[in-house]
This record gives sequence, structure tokens and C-alpha cells, in this order.
Amino acid sequence: MISQPALIPVFGHAWAQRLLQSAVLSGRASHAYLFAGPDQIGKTTLARAFAQALTCHSPRPAENGLGACGQCRSCRLAASGSHPDHRLIEPEGDQLKIEQMRDLIREATLSPIEGRYKIFIIRRFDFANIHAANALLKTLEEPSDSTRILLTSGQGALLPTITSRCQVLNLRTLPLPTLAAALHTGWQAPPEQAELLARLSGGRLGWAVQMLAQPANWQARHDRLHALLELTRQRPVERLTFAAGLAKSNNSEETLHDWLLWWRDVLLVQHACDHLIVNLDQRQQLHTLAAATLPGEVRRFIEALIAASQHLRQNVNTQLALEALLLKMPAAT
Ligand SMILES: [Zn+2]
Repeated sequence: MISQPALIPVFGHAWAQRLLQSAVLSGRASHAYLFAGPDQIGKTTLARAFAQALTCHSPRPAENGLGACGQCRSCRLAASGSHPDHRLIEPEGDQLKIEQMRDLIREATLSPIEGRYKIFIIRRFDFANIHAANALLKTLEEPSDSTRILLTSGQGALLPTITSRCQVLNLRTLPLPTLAAALHTGWQAPPEQAELLARLSGGRLGWAVQMLAQPANWQARHDRLHALLELTRQRPVERLTFAAGLAKSNNSEETLHDWLLWWRDVLLVQHACDHLIVNLDQRQQLHTLAAATLPGEVRRFIEALIAASQHLRQNVNTQLALEALLLKMPAAT
């Protein structure tokens, strides 16, 4: 009896899958790859699937995936996250440290246990401090035949000396239909929920899966939207109190992101573009607010939201920025 293949599933990024599969099948994978792109779009998953295919004992051409057979011992170990030649290195706190790179360099000198390669997946290399980046550089400059290094990075700047030694794959967010289909087939989300999550996630599968897995996240979103509706009916003094509370919390960026999607939806409803809204489950509230506010002031508030989000990222006085923003929020009349 043939058992179910143990493949690390990858959704989307079809061009990258094809490119990596051909590297696997030709046996000519580069020494280092950089998977770059926005957060939570599946960069590490793609790197793990690539590692699985690179160490597979009998890779084969496939329409989807990276060519791993999913049956051999190596594939099974990779799928369960216990392959002795695959090492996942992640930032400690908000930094990748030189000690972590030194451990890697030491380990890279050892021969692989299972097969041809020892593979190091280093997550968020944009979090590497300068010492860690320089330490890795030496390994990238003099790669050993049996070592492959897969870096992932957000959109932070990396040293050109690093990127020039890697094959760079610039990944994007997933198209919404691809993402909705993935949530439905891969995580059994009902179609309506899959569609809503796809839109809310802005094409980030990892974010959507996290939402799906944790009901507390739904409740948090619900609470944030409820607070938002209250605010549209509140007086300046109450808004300022809210701003002070939000400034002290650690979810101001998330809140502003929700608001941005929300007010964009209000504007879309005002322009009779309902089919484009993100918050599909809040249609009624969106219509109520669209009727109670003016498109001009909604548009101005959206601009203020974008500016405030940028300010928060630049570590300005958070409370001041939020107070100014809250006073500009349209009132439901
Ligand atoms: Zn295999």
C-alpha cells in the first residue's frame, strides 16, 4: 500500500515553484537563495519545501510543488520538521545574533547525515545585526559543496554584499482567489469565511491561517470594529481618552490597519463599489456609516490614517499622533 505523500504544501508563488523545481531536478541549485517579500506570505514555507525537495532521495517532475517525492525517508523527516540536515534559525527577540551565525558556520563544516546537503534556513535575515551579517558573508563567499543557505527577509534593506551572493526571489502577496482556494482546500475554511479572510489578509496566507486558527483573533477584530463605531458617535473628550488608551496598548498599528480597511470600505460603498469591500461580514454597518458621513471627509480621514501609520512606524510621539488622528475621524450624524 502506498501511503499518503508527506509534502510540505506550498500555495501560490507558481513562478518561484517552477524555478526551484528545475534547480532541484537539474541538480544545480545555487549555494544560497534569498526569499524576499512582505510578512506572512509563505516565504519560510517555500524555503522549507525547497529544502525538502533538495534532500529528497528521488525527486521527480510535478505539475505543482518543488519536485519532492513525499515518500522517501528524507521527505518524511522534512515534513515532520525533524530532518537532521535541515536547520531553522530564527531571530532571538528582534535580532539575529553573531553567536547564531557562528553556530551555523561550525555546523556547516560537518557532513550531512541523510544525504547530499546540509540546509540552513535563516528567517528574517533583515533582523541580522551587522556583526551577524558579516559573519555569514564569509560562508557565502566560500560555500561548501554540501551546504545550502536559504535566507528569508522582509522588506528591510539587506547588505548588497549579501544579496549579490544569493539568488534572489522577490515574492509578492497572493492573488485573492488563490488564497481563498488555499484556505478552503488546505484548511477546510467554509467558502464564505475563506473569501472574507482572503480579503482581510491582503494576500498574506500566513496571516489568514493565524486568524483561522485562533478564535481570539476574531474576537479582537470584532472588539476593535465595535470600538470604532462607538468612536464615530463620541465627543472629542471621549476620543482623546480613547487615543491615550490606544497609545499605551501594543496594538495601535493593528488598530489603524483595521480602520484603514474599514474606512476604505465606507468610501467604496459611498461610490457604489460594494463588490470591492473587504469587510464582507459588516455590510450593514458599512452602509449605515456610508449614509451618515460625507465622502470628502472620509477621504481626508483615510489620508490622515495613512500619514499616522507612517508616523507610528517612525516612533514619533504616539499619543500626540493618535489624538490628532482621532479628532479627524468623521462623526456619524
Ligand atoms: Zn523524497
